[in-house]
Amino acid sequence: SSFNELGLNDAILRAVTECGYTTPTPVQQQAIPVVLAGHDLLAGAQTGTGKTAGFTLPLLHKLSAQKPAGKPAIRALILTPTRELAAQVEDNLNTYAKYTGLKSLVIFGGVGINPQIDKLRRGVDILVATPGRLLDHCRQGTLDLSKVEVLVLDEADRMLDMGFIHDIKKVLKLVPAKRQTLLFSATFSDEIKALSKQFLTEPKHIEV
Ligand code: AMP
Repeated sequence: SSFNELGLNDAILRAVTECGYTTPTPVQQQAIPVVLAGHDLLAGAQTGTGKTAGFTLPLLHKLSAQKPAGKPAIRALILTPTRELAAQVEDNLNTYAKYTGLKSLVIFGGVGINPQIDKLRRGVDILVATPGRLLDHCRQGTLDLSKVEVLVLDEADRMLDMGFIHDIKKVLKLVPAKRQTLLFSATFSDEIKALSKQFLTEPKHIEV
């Protein structure tokens, strides 16, 4: 199977080709059609499987299919456990979004908040964030999650291990109830199962 058969638009295919990818990985083959169809997704996938493109490529497709005029609003939110992963996901997004005209931004703690506020003000389509700093912005009113259409919880098991459960639940109260939710986790503890039961709607399950 090839990327062309997955239904992604030309702008995305062009960027994927430039990356040198020829064949979708198993998680991409399974996840991309599910996300494009609008389903919630519960995916068991480790780092190194190509999971990042598995959710970012269909996300970019969906957001570029319907891009409202004017200053971008945050329509996709990707939560990650660490700064390193957040930066890596945003780096991938930037590469794949090159020809789409969509803007992404990464925010995490441990660095100044004001440059992030400036960038948020200019408008962002896709935000990648760690939970603590995201909530700092929400409390300060420098970030609006009311337009979020797709929420991704990346490495959800690690976020729980790092004690982010309360932060995640707070974020889930700030995004619209009507949204698509994608949860990626390497393991499926009872806590992950409870989280997905509470916050995902009739999810499709994939395991690689
Ligand atoms: P990830 O599991 O998302 O961290 O991706 C692992 C690595 O695989 C990254 O360096 C990607 O650039 C690369 N990658 C992702 N998808 C593909 C693909 N279809 N073909 C070749 N490399 C890929």
